[in-house]
Amino acid sequence: MLKINEIFYSIQGESSYAGMPCVFIRLTYCNLRCTYCDTEYAFYEGYDSSIESLLEDIKKHDCKLVEVTGGEPLMQEEVFPLMERLCDEGYTVLVETGGSLPVNKVDKRVKIIMDLKTPSSGMMKKNHMENLNYLKPGDEIKFVIGSYEDYTWSKKLVEEYCLSEKYIVLFSVVFGKLEPLELSEWILKDKLNNVRFQLQMHKFIWEPERRGV
Ligand code: SF4
Repeated sequence: MLKINEIFYSIQGESSYAGMPCVFIRLTYCNLRCTYCDTEYAFYEGYDSSIESLLEDIKKHDCKLVEVTGGEPLMQEEVFPLMERLCDEGYTVLVETGGSLPVNKVDKRVKIIMDLKTPSSGMMKKNHMENLNYLKPGDEIKFVIGSYEDYTWSKKLVEEYCLSEKYIVLFSVVFGKLEPLELSEWILKDKLNNVRFQLQMHKFIWEPERRGV
């Protein structure tokens, strides 16, 4: 059984899939407590569901793009067979993880979108840097940036680990804390031509606090 917080069909707001209709499976629980967290409701709330019954729910949306998210989806062991099963059934599967837990058990057909937690998240020490050995080319690394310090830290890491040579690197703002214009100007000033600026598109389409979108 998996503890599910919510399943919903919406527009993918982030990553290289931004703009695509997508079914989201939000799993309950998170081992982190980021200062800017916008899904605290996923820490505990949820209902039990079997993989079979989840597949039935997903099928109803008639959409072949599925994202497994949280909370922290990798906290529940059964997420690994769930993702395998979704791939077997022909879905394109994305998983969004906070980056503190090992990703080596994730099926190789799944696209991993992994955070590297910045200083202002308060969770920087939890980054499981060994994960960089397990990501595949084309996986995505996301920096959620809330200050200039976060920006310079992220930039340094991208350079030090040559991240943009292997992965898609996403630079995102902490919504309501850092102006998108500021981050855009820093990127352009420093000619970071290999990072992708992104906004959480769903927060502009719907009210920012709205759940299930
Ligand atoms: S990892 Fe995600 S869900 Fe967990 S506290 Fe941080 S922002 Fe919230």
